[in-house]
Amino acid sequence: MKNFQFVRASSAQSAIDTLVKDPNARFIAGGTNLVDLMKKGVVEPDRLVDITTLQLREISKEKQGIKVGALALNSAVAEDKTVLKKQPLLAMALQAGASQQIRNMATVGGNLLQRTRCPYFYNTDMPCNKREPGTGCGALKGFNRMHAIFGASENCIAVHPSDMAVALAALDAVVQVSGPKGNRAIPILDFHRLPGDLPQKDTTLERDELIVAVEIPENDFDKNVHYLKVRDRTSYAFALVSVAAALHLKRGKIRDVRLAMGGVAHKPWRLIEAENFLRGKEATEAIFTEAAQIAMKGAQGYGENNFKLKLAPNSIVEALKIAANA
Ligand code: SF4
Repeated sequence: MKNFQFVRASSAQSAIDTLVKDPNARFIAGGTNLVDLMKKGVVEPDRLVDITTLQLREISKEKQGIKVGALALNSAVAEDKTVLKKQPLLAMALQAGASQQIRNMATVGGNLLQRTRCPYFYNTDMPCNKREPGTGCGALKGFNRMHAIFGASENCIAVHPSDMAVALAALDAVVQVSGPKGNRAIPILDFHRLPGDLPQKDTTLERDELIVAVEIPENDFDKNVHYLKVRDRTSYAFALVSVAAALHLKRGKIRDVRLAMGGVAHKPWRLIEAENFLRGKEATEAIFTEAAQIAMKGAQGYGENNFKLKLAPNSIVEALKIAANA
């Protein structure tokens, strides 16, 4: 691993200032992804700015919903009483992610910023446009079992690995950030991006901006929810396909619904058309199956991941069925 300087930030402003002055400095919190990337030489910062002492760990009930500090640990959010009561979908998605040990280290901000687990990205001997733009995409015609079926480009077919972000996408969360130009709020669906011609850029966050909190607006999804994660092992494995399903039911009819998928795109994939179809309909398997077909419009496999074209709609139906009966 390349040598680097390690400094501890005394305030959010000083952390941001360090990144403004040093283009090769990076924030570090739990380090559960960044340290791996550094060990493999994928990311080589000259300086790490430790932000773990900043006062950004609070989980609070606000008038408009729940506010989670960017440094709140994944395990703390998953076990928080207010989150469990008001936003159980978020708690379920967090519990499905990684291992207990990693959840005890990983922060909410870091979870949003974790990089893809595409094996070509982590192997510096292989071509990868995300790691080294212009070298090609090794996965396009290579090992792509874990890769995207929605929104990919010929430059990159990687998927975003977070479970938490899929639930946040379904729940219309807002990411609060602070930077040299001040504060701004980024709706979660605008936070992660599709690869297009710039696969090296995962998010719309500027390099010197710091995530300070995530807000989840008040909603009626406190009962009929489910996070379904289909994976090779039952724990400590990334999703082949995951579905965050939230229903607000009244006498068997769907008053409101949210659906998002993980493991299928470069960003959490929200299923807006399927949601629009479901609103006002009966919560039956036949209706869920129709919605799943709508959700699959535009899906494309790349060889090894063709099985996702069948797995994804089946998972949508299953998640909705479990949510409806929760
Ligand atoms: Fe790199 Fe993306 Fe291709 Fe994977 S899918 S090799 S991350 S460009």
